[in-house]
Amino acid sequence: MTTQLTKLLETEVAKRRTFAIISHPDAGKTTLTEKLLLFGGAIRLAGTVKGRKASKHATSDWMEIEKQRGISVTSSVMQFDYEGHRVNILDTPGHQDFSEDTYRTLTAADSAVMLIDVAKGVETQTKKLFQVCRMRGIPIFTFINKLDREGRDPFELLEELEEVLGIRSYPMNWPIGSGKQFCGVYDRGKSQLELYQGDDHKDIQVRKVDGVDDPLVKQIAGEFLHKQLSQDIELLDVAGDPFDMEKVLKGELTPVFFGSAVNNFGVQTFLENFLQLAPKPEPRNSTAGVIEPTKEKFSGYVFKIQANMNPAHRDRVAFLRIVSGKFERGMSVKHVRIGKDIKLAQPQQFLAQDRDIVETAFPGDIIGLFDPGIFRIGDSLSEGEEIVFDELPTFSPELFSKVSIKNALKQKQFLKGIDQLTEEGMIQVFTTFGFEDMILGVVGQLQFEVLEHRMRSEYGVDILLQRQNYQFARWIVDEKIDPGKFRINSQLVKDKKGNYVGLFESEYALRSSIEKNPTAKFLTSAP
Ligand code: GDP
Repeated sequence: MTTQLTKLLETEVAKRRTFAIISHPDAGKTTLTEKLLLFGGAIRLAGTVKGRKASKHATSDWMEIEKQRGISVTSSVMQFDYEGHRVNILDTPGHQDFSEDTYRTLTAADSAVMLIDVAKGVETQTKKLFQVCRMRGIPIFTFINKLDREGRDPFELLEELEEVLGIRSYPMNWPIGSGKQFCGVYDRGKSQLELYQGDDHKDIQVRKVDGVDDPLVKQIAGEFLHKQLSQDIELLDVAGDPFDMEKVLKGELTPVFFGSAVNNFGVQTFLENFLQLAPKPEPRNSTAGVIEPTKEKFSGYVFKIQANMNPAHRDRVAFLRIVSGKFERGMSVKHVRIGKDIKLAQPQQFLAQDRDIVETAFPGDIIGLFDPGIFRIGDSLSEGEEIVFDELPTFSPELFSKVSIKNALKQKQFLKGIDQLTEEGMIQVFTTFGFEDMILGVVGQLQFEVLEHRMRSEYGVDILLQRQNYQFARWIVDEKIDPGKFRINSQLVKDKKGNYVGLFESEYALRSSIEKNPTAKFLTSAP
């Protein structure tokens, strides 16, 4: 029997799209996000997204780093409504020194939008983030940006997607000219021209045509560009991949859109197609099997904890992705790890920098929970059930520093700080054999800088970080392990739970250690 609640859940889930934008710095993510929010009628937010880059929006003191470097250190969540859909955008930090936070945010998304600069193609950070999406098998939509500038040949870019990322593509539209000669795109599905005007118009000019060889196309594009467009489209039709929704949903084929975010060109078309094609909130795996979003009992997991969003309160916020059921303010849920019921009294939802109290929320939504120190990354909450979600892999750190304190009298605060920041998932801690030195592992340099800053401002401790030459960490499972075998260009340490971890200076050192320990298993994350 379908109950009232199931019906409500079906409707609410069908409406929702939760996604993250992945890109390399400067590709235009802030600009695109802002334009998307504008379409959603969230006009009061115009400039807010951008504002993060300016100094006036530094809302907390450890975000000083953000201010100084003009980057956004932590990701936030934005929500807007558009034509019957409720859209949740997860903002992943756009700087080079990203952290595990970035990776983890992707576990809360059901699809990703990959933003690429037409002149630069696939860049390093896009590649890393893409790999995480690939691992999760989520659909990826591509927006090729800055068509108003001279860029690379579109065919060359599609080839790069395939060669560098291993994903095939289906251009939904195709540019007519580029840079100064850019006159718009040809929509392959709708057989229409969308004309570029070069300024921020919400309503773009659209002309229906009868295929690319319609005389109107020639009239608008001119002889030369028309010939090129006609050849390109023929080539795509003949030699390109056919559109295949199943492959899109598996993340094997990416629908590609061309446009110019800053000129608001191609953004609306992109949004509308995206909302049609992108998946609604997906089920998640748990210890109790697959949990469907329409399951009536509420459940969700914490994928991120952010400290001190508001310096006046020194608060922490735990970000929860709702997996199933209906969330209501004030409801009691089970905190599975600690085995206690807790009341969700002051949940928040996020509109760029503004926070609103949320009364109800549904699967796919992200809510912020005030955290008096009871949450850890990966914690599951449920309406009375023993459900633990296993969505959050720990990523193998790539940068390592030995850490110590400048003032030995502050040992207690030091250990407390390190402990709490490890729980937040900001750093991983390892201990050496013998001297019991503490080595910290991170995936991005910025994590070390934020760590120093937060240890000083929140715990009153000045720390010393000494960079180590290691590049790789592997969790080692072996019956009889011998730390003595890890000497040259490597070291054996223990993680917080006492697991053995090998740190290696080079791929060569790692390989030779694998050869020397044939019975051992070398894992990229904790067993
Ligand atoms: P982010 O680092 O990815 O968030 O990039 P931003 O959104 O801050 O954009 C980086 C720069 O590219 C800014 O100066 C933008 O104005 C510019 N930009 C964004 N979109 C476009 C576009 O379509 N065309 C051009 N010419 N510039 C753009």
